[in-house]
Amino acid sequence: MPDLSFLPSLRTVADSHGLRARRSLGQNFLFDENLLDRIAEQTGDLSQKTVIEIGPGPGGLTRAMLRAGANRIIALEKDTRCIAALASLVDAADGHLRVVEGDALDGGFRDLAGNASVVVGNLPFNIATELLMHLLESDLEPVRMILMFQKEVANRIVAGPGSKAYGRLSVLVQWQCEVKTCFDVPASAFVPAPKVQATVLRITPRDTPAFPASRTSLQAVTSAAFGQRRKTLRNSLSSAFDDAKAAATKAGLDPNLRAEAVDLEGFCRLATVHEQLFSSAG
Ligand code: SAM
Repeated sequence: MPDLSFLPSLRTVADSHGLRARRSLGQNFLFDENLLDRIAEQTGDLSQKTVIEIGPGPGGLTRAMLRAGANRIIALEKDTRCIAALASLVDAADGHLRVVEGDALDGGFRDLAGNASVVVGNLPFNIATELLMHLLESDLEPVRMILMFQKEVANRIVAGPGSKAYGRLSVLVQWQCEVKTCFDVPASAFVPAPKVQATVLRITPRDTPAFPASRTSLQAVTSAAFGQRRKTLRNSLSSAFDDAKAAATKAGLDPNLRAEAVDLEGFCRLATVHEQLFSSAG
């Protein structure tokens, strides 16, 4: 394990590189090493894995993963100022850390990391949902992802039927992954403190999706159903089907239900009906 004990504190690194947080880059940094170690613990054994860290910033979580024995970290960061701030950590990491300047929304994760990777990040809140969808649609196929989101977004990701937080994001993520809430992080832990709390999630991609469905059709039916979530399926689904009532019935769903009451399996059946109609129409 590399010796990081001689490095200056994270706060000193940020100060000496003029790393004043930029809101446009969703920058809220963590300097509390106990908290960072707790997040790194969630990543599991990293001794045989390649980690992709999204947005290392001044390197707090990167340091914590190196302390925990990470073998190979590839840290992808958009802010040039952070790249400079990470230089001494790269040296100290003794070959275990590579920093790449780039935009995580541009993808190309597989080229960076190969397979068998773990994705980790205290994500910029402003692009976290978009980034997660990119990761799920990428060819990376990570074994697990430990990601921090704004608490409300995390609640939506893990929500089940019948709750207000349950929606399109819950269905699309849970179709492909098992999701678990690890713990909340108070706003006061960040520098600067955001207006919202954060939550760390463990997202484990399934070998195969939970139920058969095409992604395009699942996206279409969840978009229609939750786009008008106060309406019943016979109405809300009319933007996806010519005969919404018949489609819901064919999927084994009561057309008088609202989207909120339909579980993942129900949406996958609806997506299958959608795909059949769509492909036979094409
Ligand atoms: N991991 C650090 C920590 O915990 O202190 C920083 C977390 S901060 C919430 C988010 C980081 O993501 C910032 O360093 C920011 O510059 C970086 N970032 C923002 N947008 C990005 C993008 N599109 N691609 C890669 N990094 C990005």
